[in-house]
Amino acid sequence: MILVINKNASEKEIEDVKEKIHAKGFEVHESRGLNYHILGVVGDTSSIDSGLFQTYNAIDKVIFVQEPYKKSNRLFHPDNSVIKVGKETIGGDKLAIIAGPCSVESEEQIVSIAESVKKSGAGFLRGGAFKPRTSPYSFQGLKKEGLELLKIAREKTGLPIVTEIMSTDFLDDFVEDVDVIQVGARNMQNFELLKQLGKTNKPILLKRGLSATIEELLMSAEYIMAGGNDNVILCERGIRTFEKFTRNTLDLSAIPAIKKLSHLPVIIDPSHAAGLWWMVEPLAKAAIVAGADGLIIEVHNDPKNALVDGAQSIKPDKFEHLMDKLKMLAAVEERAI
Ligand code: PEP
Ligand code: MN
Repeated sequence: MILVINKNASEKEIEDVKEKIHAKGFEVHESRGLNYHILGVVGDTSSIDSGLFQTYNAIDKVIFVQEPYKKSNRLFHPDNSVIKVGKETIGGDKLAIIAGPCSVESEEQIVSIAESVKKSGAGFLRGGAFKPRTSPYSFQGLKKEGLELLKIAREKTGLPIVTEIMSTDFLDDFVEDVDVIQVGARNMQNFELLKQLGKTNKPILLKRGLSATIEELLMSAEYIMAGGNDNVILCERGIRTFEKFTRNTLDLSAIPAIKKLSHLPVIIDPSHAAGLWWMVEPLAKAAIVAGADGLIIEVHNDPKNALVDGAQSIKPDKFEHLMDKLKMLAAVEERAI
């Protein structure tokens, strides 16, 4: 952290700042030039409140030279993280393809979709049991029964299951039953939930918040990792912009940006990004070529009658076709699928 001193600051005011820096346990590196006077705060300054030094008269500007995230920072972990999920991995050479309905509706529905996406080459089954809906009057998911149905689908297909947690109420069930715990966009900054997930050793699929910056996403990952759980997978699922044509705007630049800043795997959710089934294929293809480590895609056998997100769900035959295309693109990127 660099503190730029005000031109008219008195020596006493500057001394007060230095004293504060020392009191916080940091060293000061002072540099006086003809036109500038700066104090370098030496040490890990991530715990210093960003506004602290702005309260001093002697300070003109505070410049941060270090990112506030540490455990998720590539600087301290140059190699890509590879998250193990049973026999599957996320972040390694093989792309992680997660597919399934938005929400679990019945045993027949989840098992038949699981079987068909597995046949097409998906490595994981998704399905919401607890659904975060904008309206309290909309279908909220089958909840615990949904988790049971996901377990049946896993037993029949061998696919690991990915499903969303909404609060700590059923944390033990999730730790016991689920292979990858999803934190949805709306809960990205539910810090108490993130802290509890940090105490588990479960892989966590952390989705980017509706209007969250990349740094905020990484800080949320940091909450989980600070608790000791390094198994975090990041997911870009579209962000809010002024554009109304699509449900959200897919931020493809988040892939290379996150890859530069962090060692954590990044996957893309083209379904929630677009909100339109016919856009899923082009966006999924673009994501793989842009360097994503995988995809999470909504697939439904009967989108017209889906209880949630039918408009953005592709049918199993479209998913099969998409997987064939993705295999070619994965090869271009020297990845397996
Ligand atoms: C979901 O994956 O079904 C979901 C609700 O996603 P998001 O949190 O990205 O809206
Ligand atoms: Mn959905």
